[in-house]
Amino acid sequence: MRRKLLLGNWKMNKTSAEAKEFALETKELVELASKNNIDIGVAPTYLSLAAVKENADKRMIVAAQNCHFNDHGAFTGEISIPMLQEFGIDWVLIGHSERRAYDNETNFKCHEKIKALLANKMVPVYCVGETLGEFEAGETKDVVSAQVKQGLEGFSAEEVKDIVIAYEPVWSIGTGKNASTEIAQDVCGFIRNILRELFGKVADEIRILYGGSVKPENIKAYLSCPDIDGGLVGGASLKKESYEGLLTNIL
Ligand code: PEP
Repeated sequence: MRRKLLLGNWKMNKTSAEAKEFALETKELVELASKNNIDIGVAPTYLSLAAVKENADKRMIVAAQNCHFNDHGAFTGEISIPMLQEFGIDWVLIGHSERRAYDNETNFKCHEKIKALLANKMVPVYCVGETLGEFEAGETKDVVSAQVKQGLEGFSAEEVKDIVIAYEPVWSIGTGKNASTEIAQDVCGFIRNILRELFGKVADEIRILYGGSVKPENIKAYLSCPDIDGGLVGGASLKKESYEGLLTNIL
């Protein structure tokens, strides 16, 4: 039985003080999620990780939005896994479409990062999804298949059993144009089949999230799809009220 997972992606939003305030005001929500066997978390900016980690309920998942695959070195502006571990961070988003678009995050680079995270027993949330052009050209499954296969190439079933995959059609992120539940389920089911091909039975343990304009009003419909285990949520995770709505609508 896969536990539901609700993860907020704050992108480049919230100062450290604002992040601390959110962490404090959502303590009861984490308690509520935990009582209902739901995992809940947020991915703040690097500079706010410590504020959230120190002030949130200890069961809150606190994820970084990126990491480098080298432990140290001449990589100006980057943050390494040991630096995250020092703050108790063991979840990291990998390959978010904004990083793929603006920071040249290729499937190969994602693979290197996932490899480094798995070697450190950390949890990658590997984001995949097609652009609008690819969707309109009917290339969704080719694109997603390449992302999943190249990103996860060569790992063992034992290594990948705790990873999370987030299917986020790029055309639905921050646009208000969420994918229909039929599309989301079709692609998430397709991803699970690829995982089954690659890793066998462990595919049934791996959580797959849908992301893209998820709101309190539509989250329940996604979570009722057999292959969707939770949501990766941008805009609607920023305010306590809508974060609460996302959770209470899937209890
Ligand atoms: C995201 O940032 O991963 C995302 C899905 O954003 P939004 O929910 O705002 O579309």
